[in-house]
Amino acid sequence: MTIVTETEIEAYAFCPNSRCDGNTQKKVKALKTLVEFTYMDLGGDLPGVERSTAYLKFKTTKQSPCTVCGIPRELSETRRRKYAPTVINDKVMDPKALLDYMPDRFAEDYEPEYEVVE
Ligand SMILES: [Zn+2]
Repeated sequence: MTIVTETEIEAYAFCPNSRCDGNTQKKVKALKTLVEFTYMDLGGDLPGVERSTAYLKFKTTKQSPCTVCGIPRELSETRRRKYAPTVINDKVMDPKALLDYMPDRFAEDYEPEYEVVE
């Protein structure tokens, strides 16, 4: 028999658009649904859980939209790592500078706040 367990956890919500100010992770109450498949579920005859998967969702749908841009936020159980800034020739590089050169699903809506000099 598949085991489904839902528990309330503290998770980190963030806007998936890395250029949005809502991209900073914020602690929120969320629900974690753990679905466990036993060996017997999958045709075996041993006791115990063979595999499992976990889903995170917001406790209420009002928590989902990004407060800055309005697109649905995502959830993570772990806090995002912060890496030391990259320094090249004594110049600190903008960690998001590569985003200006990489097309992504948000590129159409993105307008840089500075003038590009070529
Ligand atoms: Zn956003």
